[in-house]
Amino acid sequence: MKPIRMVDLVTQYEKMKPEIDTAMADVMKTAAFIKGPEVKTLEQNLEQYLNIKHVVACANGTDALQIALMALELKPGDEVITPCFSYAASCEVILLLKLIPVFVDVNPFTFNMDIEATRNAITAKTKAIIPVHLFGQCADMEPLLNLAREHHLWVIEDAAQSMGASYTFGDGSVAHAGTMGIIGTTSFFPSKNLGCFGDGGALFTNDDAMAHKIRRIANHGQSKPYFHDEIGVNSRLDSIQAAVLNIKLKKLEGYHTARKKAADYYDQAFFNHKNIVTPFRSACSTHVFHQYSLQLIDTNREALIRMLDSKQIPSTIYYPIPLNEQKAYLQEGNYPVTSSLCKTVLSLPMHTELEEEQLEMITHTILDFLK
Ligand SMILES: *Cc1c(COP(=O)(O)O)cnc(C)c1O
Repeated sequence: MKPIRMVDLVTQYEKMKPEIDTAMADVMKTAAFIKGPEVKTLEQNLEQYLNIKHVVACANGTDALQIALMALELKPGDEVITPCFSYAASCEVILLLKLIPVFVDVNPFTFNMDIEATRNAITAKTKAIIPVHLFGQCADMEPLLNLAREHHLWVIEDAAQSMGASYTFGDGSVAHAGTMGIIGTTSFFPSKNLGCFGDGGALFTNDDAMAHKIRRIANHGQSKPYFHDEIGVNSRLDSIQAAVLNIKLKKLEGYHTARKKAADYYDQAFFNHKNIVTPFRSACSTHVFHQYSLQLIDTNREALIRMLDSKQIPSTIYYPIPLNEQKAYLQEGNYPVTSSLCKTVLSLPMHTELEEEQLEMITHTILDFLK
């Protein structure tokens, strides 16, 4: 059996090596390493795939969030609502720009931003909401967008973990993660569902003026070379990364299928187990399984992790600490669902190359431990 990895990018690369190597070598032949034609092509391919008017590539998903907040011209002291159970990036850029992060708790089933908690967190200073489409599933966007409209708030969607997931509105219309708010952001970090061979990210918008502003901010605030209209950042995507992403984008639907197949296997193995809550599948969103995260009930999680470790089965706690309890962002607050999830969740190996014998080994080991 092949070694079990949390994410197996080695096998994934081996399967497309000739195609990828040629595309990368082509970039080297022209030496257009930054903002070469591959980047433009990627932006166009993504516009088509996501059915959105503008895609602007940038250096990583954290920059994408920062650029989004800069493009909306938020001012120091403005409040931005974001989930407490999440990766640190949204909170980090809010604080970097001297804005105030207002955390809200998440829904105990979907682990996504709780709508009522969001409503209760709105004050006169609130300017924006950043829902994070966590683990591969869209937050409940329809009520969230209605709430934002009611209070004249911007919505920036963090789709770093849910590239390609789609949300269905009450009227039956469907939209991809990242295309429903004023701006959507994503990351092409290697382990994401659409990952490159280094750092990468992108912003999405249907607003022409916003797209223009985003493009300018991402490139030193320049309207043309050496004319700086506003303060920007240096956040560009390398052509080699874009070349890789153009190939992997064509495979993304297949990747979703492979991830879902692994998730179905896990679901079946753990069905109705008294100690395991398998990931909830929302009725309004597809799930692209960036992570397969269990909740463990009445279980010694650390002992289980040690047991898995001893059999060379990796597992990870996403996330061990509520954001408001992180040393860097310390804040008072009561987030019972987040607190409980931090103590009970465990993410299992999830990627496009999982084989049945590996899944069998993982599930048997866990079920044995829980006996
Ligand atoms: C990975 C991730 C980011 C940051 O992306 P980078 O490309 O690593 O900067 C932001 N938000 C979420 C939810 C993520 O998972």
